[in-house]
Amino acid sequence: MLLAGDIGGTKTLLGLFERARPRPRAAAVNSFTTCDYDGLDAVIDAFIRTSAASGQRIERACFGAAGPVMNGVAHLTNVPWTIDARAVAERFGFESAALLNDLEAMAYGVPALDESEVKVLQTGKAVPTGNIGLIAAGTGLGVSMLHNIDGRFIPLPSEGGHADFAATDEREIALLRWLIAQHGRAQVEHVVSGRGLLNIHRHVHRTACPAASGRDGSASAAAITEAALAGRCAECVETLDLFVTAYGSEAGNLALRTMATAGLYVGGGIAPKILPALSDGRFLRAFRRKAPYEALLGDMPVKVILNSQTALLGAAVFAAGPASDV
Ligand SMILES: [Zn+2]
Repeated sequence: MLLAGDIGGTKTLLGLFERARPRPRAAAVNSFTTCDYDGLDAVIDAFIRTSAASGQRIERACFGAAGPVMNGVAHLTNVPWTIDARAVAERFGFESAALLNDLEAMAYGVPALDESEVKVLQTGKAVPTGNIGLIAAGTGLGVSMLHNIDGRFIPLPSEGGHADFAATDEREIALLRWLIAQHGRAQVEHVVSGRGLLNIHRHVHRTACPAASGRDGSASAAAITEAALAGRCAECVETLDLFVTAYGSEAGNLALRTMATAGLYVGGGIAPKILPALSDGRFLRAFRRKAPYEALLGDMPVKVILNSQTALLGAAVFAAGPASDV
């Protein structure tokens, strides 16, 4: 059996998978509140004790972690955990344990997704020898590229969310100026992420927003998108419009950099919640508006990932090893 994990600042998913190609089969999946445990070992202990994992022989493990990974060691971004893959393998007697960045783990899951787990924004014409681009806005912005090598997609780690925000018109230039004044520089994550949505909202709303404010007066990303989708506040509508346009534009930049002719995938927690705004043409117009390459971008399939456990699946795919291993 394989043990897969998706370790986030808020929630950790662990899953037990049977080895299968191209998609390992989930036998048991449990969700844990990350900060309830003092480390990954304690979560694995709990998983093995309480679930169908009990008594199963686990050969290999792989974990995706929300934080940079160096030499098999990760320090989580928002939780005081250090994860050492080799130490985990030794402690639990696994043949091997691997550690990936969470976006890299999600990227391994992308080629294993079936059509029911994605929403097609643009059908395009997939080129079998082409690469794949993955962009995922959640709390932050994750980016990965899947390099097609002889038909196998090899994900590359990236910190592309921290690259510069590329403003494309006067409205975005005003936002860019405001972000530089606030943060010293404007990263694309300052715009295209949950935190980015709050930045845009503060920039657009010079006064408090009654439609999206909680009891303490601060707005949440979920409340802003809800107010915008329901048309309850003109500034929230403007906020979501800026967000969707910048998301599409950055997806287009990634598609150009990757030559994502096999597909550009939109992952992360925000996209499934704003599907009506992503599907009404604004996202794709910004995606394709890259003269003289509109036709190239118009032919690339663009899909929103609906499966919220794609990073867990990807960790299982990685744990299963290359096809020649099975
Ligand atoms: Zn508002």
